[in-house]
Amino acid sequence: MSKKVALFPGSFDPFTKGHEDIVLRGLNLFDEIIIAIGYNSGKSQRYFPIDMMIGKIEQTFKQHPQIKVRTYSELTATFAKKNGARFLLRGLRNTTDFEYENSIAQVNRELNAQLESVFLITSPAFASVSSSIIREVHRYKGDVSNFLPYQLD
Ligand code: ADP
Repeated sequence: MSKKVALFPGSFDPFTKGHEDIVLRGLNLFDEIIIAIGYNSGKSQRYFPIDMMIGKIEQTFKQHPQIKVRTYSELTATFAKKNGARFLLRGLRNTTDFEYENSIAQVNRELNAQLESVFLITSPAFASVSSSIIREVHRYKGDVSNFLPYQLD
């Protein structure tokens, strides 16, 4: 049996406890998980610097060599194929996520027929955690430490 590799794509600006939960639960399903940060160095609109975020995610999963962190700036379906990933791992918080993920999954399947999207329903404790809200709280000097699996410097 070939190794089951899943790509977990996103902006991860920042990577949250909600994301961590999906990745750790994904370990029960896959042999390897590649956390793929969509990032275009030419037109970066990020709030948290990419190198800092890569370091924080690697630190978060240092006990798990089967979890890797990569950046990419191409179609997710293409990046998955290049990395031998047959699965896309995604988290679902609510119906808004569902509507969006439903369309993306159909298009990704069209682009790469081998690619199967797998969705995990968010754990209730993290259902309200979103990167955009964390950015907003942080921008106005609020404490975001409860939402992140690592310490900000
Ligand atoms: P995007 O830039 O594609 O919105 P994100 O970095 O926000 O990506 O999220 C990547 C994936 O993680 C998506 O599938 C998203 O639904 C999921 N996700 C985000 N926040 C949570 C959470 N709190 N619980 C579970 N899944 C989440």
